Formats: sequence, C-alpha cells, structure tokens
Amino acid sequence: MSAVVDTPADGKVMPLRVLERKLLEFRGVDKRFHVNGEWHTAVEAVDLDIAQGQVVTLVGPSGCGKSTLLNMSAGMFGPSAGRVLYRGEELRGLNHRVGYMTQQDHLLPWRTVFDNIALPLEIRGASKADREQRTHELIHLVGLDGFERHYPTQVSGGMRKRTALARLLAYDPETLLMDEPFGALDAQMRMSLQVELLRISRRLGKTVVFVTHDLDEAIALADRCVVFRGRPGRIVETIEVDLPVDRDLTALRFDTRYVQLTQQLWRLMAPDLSRMGTTGERA
Ligand code: ADP
Ligand code: MG
Repeated sequence: MSAVVDTPADGKVMPLRVLERKLLEFRGVDKRFHVNGEWHTAVEAVDLDIAQGQVVTLVGPSGCGKSTLLNMSAGMFGPSAGRVLYRGEELRGLNHRVGYMTQQDHLLPWRTVFDNIALPLEIRGASKADREQRTHELIHLVGLDGFERHYPTQVSGGMRKRTALARLLAYDPETLLMDEPFGALDAQMRMSLQVELLRISRRLGKTVVFVTHDLDEAIALADRCVVFRGRPGRIVETIEVDLPVDRDLTALRFDTRYVQLTQQLWRLMAPDLSRMGTTGERA
C-alpha cells in the first residue's frame, strides 16, 4: 500500500492518486433502535464514500446520528437497512482496522503517560525494547516529550488528549474514528491539537472520520465535510473543502476560501440554529 501523501524535498505535501480508493462505504443505510417498546430511526438513507487517506468531517446538531454512523463504522452494530462496507466487504462484527477516540479519554489513572501509551503494545505482546522505542516515538510525535512519567491527573486536558491520541496510534489503526474528541478543550488547546492531528494523519497516511458539531472545525480539518440535519438524520450536503492539504490552521481565519466555505456551512445549518433558540436544544 502506498502512502497517501508524499513530502518531496521542497517540503510541499502532495496528494497522491491513492486518494481515489474507497475505504468506507455506506449504501442506503438506515439505523433504527428499539427503545421502550417503540422503534426510533436514528439515521436514514445515508450514502457516503470515504476514500483512503481522506479527512472527512461529519457535522450536524446533537441527535442526528453522527455517533451512530461511527459505531457502525467500528462494526459495533450493523445497519437496519442498507450496507456498510470496509475495503469493499460488508462489515460483520468488530472492525479491527479502525481506532476509536471518543470525548472521554479513558486513560488509566494509575498508569503514567508513557505506560498508558504503551498499553496497546503490551496487549499485542511487543518486546520490551520495541515497546520502549515505539512509545518514545509516539510521545515525540504528539509533542509530549518530558511528560512521560507524569500521571494523567498531573497533566492538562490538552495533554490528556495527546496521550489518548498517541495511545490510539499505538494500535496502528488504518482509520481513525474520532467522536468530538476536542470538544471540552479551550480554543487554543483545541487549535494546537487540530494542527497535530492533521500533521500526523497526513504524515502517517491515516484516513480520519471526525465528528464535530463545531462548524469552523468541520471545515478547517476536512478534505470533505458531510452535513447532517434532522431527526432522523440525513445527509443534506457534502462540501468539498478545496483548501490546501498542507493548510496552516492558525492562519485560516484570514483565508478567503475558508471564510466562504464556513459561511456556506453556517447558512446550511441556520434552520437548526434558529430552532435552538425556541427549543433550547444544543447544536
Ligand atoms: P449524535 O451523535 O449526532 O448526537 P447519536 O448517533 O448519538 O447522535 O444518536 C442519534 C439518535 O439515536 C438519538 O436519538 C439517540 O438517542 C439514538 N440512539 C443512539 N444510539 C442508541 C442506542 N444504542 N440505543 C437506542 N437509541 C440510540
Ligand atoms: Mg454523538
């Protein structure tokens, strides 16, 4: 398998044709849940292709089925109608090629940052030398040098997220499923993690499916932004984000194209935003 991006000598990141290959596909997917004796439809008629190496954001108000789609991508349950395919094959049971990062970091409080990150390598039975080397590489990759021996309670929220990201990468998943992972962070911390995530995913050629209800984040990170609305949730629009692959997130707010794309998204979401005022719902 070739890399998704290549970094030639001049340092420019170039997308390669491998971006065309389908990795994750939803074909006419509905998902219904049986709750208190009644059937409730979470998502319906979802058709979506995610290509290898793409960063795809799923955006929409609370309750429109974004997490349900990630859960199906992880093979935690199947669709009620339609098909979910990974590498062209219908998912049956857990999808071991994905790594899942949720809003809660689920770090083990009695283990140091280093030992939390090393956990997947221990589970896999890697030798002590391999574990040490790989864990140090990951610590460096996510910018945690110097914090190896700290416990999760001794580091900031942003560092906990970095630890969780490094632990996720220790599984070496092909695809990262991320469910509002940076939601609880302040703006600066969030930006710095977004920068790291994009850098790492491009460098390692990871496919990323990133759920957010933050409209700016949905454009800033994406190659493609898929917009959901309603209950049950449906795709209402797909925005091709034609910003450079090696975009500078810290300068985006001054970029005319970024401003146009976020305005397009804000306009699409306007019906939900105005309803928020009358129903008290969270976007
Ligand atoms: P989002 O992530 O966009 O906020 P979810 O995918 O969590 O939305 O939920 C979509 C709808 O499906 C909600 O009404 C939620 O209550 C329902 N739902 C999600 N998962 C389950 C489940 N395991 N059992 C029953 N209902 C569920
Ligand atoms: Mg959710």
